[in-house]
Amino acid sequence: MKKILHVAAILLSISIALFAQKSAEEYLNEKGEVYFSFNLDNTNLNLSELTRIISIDNVKKDGTVFAYANRKEYQKLREFGVSVNVLKHPGDTPNVKMANSIEEVQEWNAYPTYEEYVAMMQQYANDYPDICEYIDAGPTVDGRNILFLKISDNVSVREEEPQFMYTSTMHGDETTGYVLMLHLIDSLLTSYGTDARITDLVDNVEIWINPLANPDGTYAGGNSTINGSHRSNANWVDLNRNFPDPDDGPHPDGEVWQPETIAMMNVASSNFFVMSANFHGGAEVVNYPWDTWSRLHADDSWWQFVSHEYADTCHAYANGWYMTGFDNGITNGYDWYPIYGGRQDYMTYFKHGREVTIELSDVKTVSGSELPTYWEYNKRSFLNYIEQCRYGLQGKVTFELAIGIPQATITIVGHDSDADSSQVLTDTRNGSYFRLIKGGTYDVQVSAPGYVTQIFYGIQINDYQATVLNVDLLKTVPVELVSFTGSIFESGVKLNWTTATETNNKGFEIQRTMNNEQLTMDNWESIGFIEGYGTTTEAKSYSYADENLEKGKYIYRLKQIDFDGTYHYSPEAEVDFNSILKFELSQNYPNPFNPSTKISFSIPEKEFVTLLVFNVNGEKVKTLINENLDAGKHSVDFNAAELASGIYFYKISTGKFSDIKKMVLLR
Ligand SMILES: [Zn+2]
Repeated sequence: MKKILHVAAILLSISIALFAQKSAEEYLNEKGEVYFSFNLDNTNLNLSELTRIISIDNVKKDGTVFAYANRKEYQKLREFGVSVNVLKHPGDTPNVKMANSIEEVQEWNAYPTYEEYVAMMQQYANDYPDICEYIDAGPTVDGRNILFLKISDNVSVREEEPQFMYTSTMHGDETTGYVLMLHLIDSLLTSYGTDARITDLVDNVEIWINPLANPDGTYAGGNSTINGSHRSNANWVDLNRNFPDPDDGPHPDGEVWQPETIAMMNVASSNFFVMSANFHGGAEVVNYPWDTWSRLHADDSWWQFVSHEYADTCHAYANGWYMTGFDNGITNGYDWYPIYGGRQDYMTYFKHGREVTIELSDVKTVSGSELPTYWEYNKRSFLNYIEQCRYGLQGKVTFELAIGIPQATITIVGHDSDADSSQVLTDTRNGSYFRLIKGGTYDVQVSAPGYVTQIFYGIQINDYQATVLNVDLLKTVPVELVSFTGSIFESGVKLNWTTATETNNKGFEIQRTMNNEQLTMDNWESIGFIEGYGTTTEAKSYSYADENLEKGKYIYRLKQIDFDGTYHYSPEAEVDFNSILKFELSQNYPNPFNPSTKISFSIPEKEFVTLLVFNVNGEKVKTLINENLDAGKHSVDFNAAELASGIYFYKISTGKFSDIKKMVLLR
């Protein structure tokens, strides 16, 4: 009897532990967040408004909303007069099975301690150095770490293969995916070289796996247990509302980016993830973009295709109910309920990737003994989802005369739009690109700033196949120069040029070199700069005067400079400045003279010229020239044999010019 009473007492205490409901205030004091439900019928707010106040976790068809709130959020909800049913927090799981060693974790039916987790991640990288790299993406609020394993052949080399990412448990109490990702890592590494399918995947995809995106939330109860976990990070921020949002801007939740968010953004920005998935719990469904707005993504048919493939593969190996809700296991994000600041939309919109949110289990923290069941349901889907990043359109873009590797944009004409940001970009480390798309026939545009856009018409793409399109992009001539000429004027050279069109034209640097024995060619000197018109499709004329030149043969060219600093040289224009300079009457030579001397002059153009000699009384004593002369330098001999000694004057006259100089005849 005593014994029976004892058992009854234990049962009673368990009942009290299970059913004695804490108040919201108690949860907020103890955990910093509270989990609750209410029905939409009991509030004047719609889901769009509610999702900005609290962290919605699920919305049932009957209008029941399940949500979390920190103190601030909970108070705000109460201010709107919404009353809620406080629920047992999903992270409070005192009976959850924790492993006592790494070996026990690797039986895959218990959760690791935080230390075991970190040690396992390091151990995998140590044991498989050729195909596995340990990456610490940064510390969390409480100084734990966001860890990735990168798994690929030639793991330290950025090969021309797609980058793929799995990440789990950014909501700390949604722990199923955490262990399943560790299990997947183990499976990829231990089966490499023996399992043909896994070997093929590891050889041809760069797989990044982050099993635990919010370790502070998962181990809020201490590093040795996941009991006491919570959804948010240690600052009580829901990390899946903390990312920049395509519709709501950089901080849709009004919070600064958390360290965990920054770590993820850094990893995303320094890589080109073609495809990714983010594992959660609390439902069983593949949720695809967009979360932030109702408009469907350009690739909605592809999202449905890959999401159904994931869910259908689960159905084939699961019991009758698993992942069968919604549209047979898949849903458009907004259709379910809107969220702002989710990582799925961030990766898809800002990083031009393709990310889904996969909810693995209705129960957020499944018991250890149930973990193998979820592995069995999902393990094939994990692989075939990764495999999808190998299909569609892919290739490499090379760039003519490039410094470094520029970035090209791959646009499916009439399909992609800036609103969806659905174009994909080439990897700036090797020029590769991967455009996942539902099978069909598409026109593909490949463009890059400074390069001639190319369009490839009627490209056939099939599901489960890769269509390869490699593209060489040629540099555009940003400014189309129609003419460039140099001509002589009075004191120098006048350069004239015209452009038909200009793109990003900062302007023209005028460069000059002399073509004679004293100076070698290629000794270009910059002599001036003329600003361009930027971008115009109208013809533009320019001129530049190079004045006060010494005699010589000059060569000119234009260095056309873009706003980004790139430049192009024009053809060269050569001008002979030897013969003609300007109107000039030289001093006679010799002077004094007896009886003859030479008088030189130059004229810049063909002119009627008179050159007369006068005595000191102003009487003309000789006509030396009275005729049309060509442009150039001329000289004439003056013989004064029949004249007396004394001072004489010679005077040149043309239509535009006259000059007079004195000379002395000395016998
Ligand atoms: Zn979640």
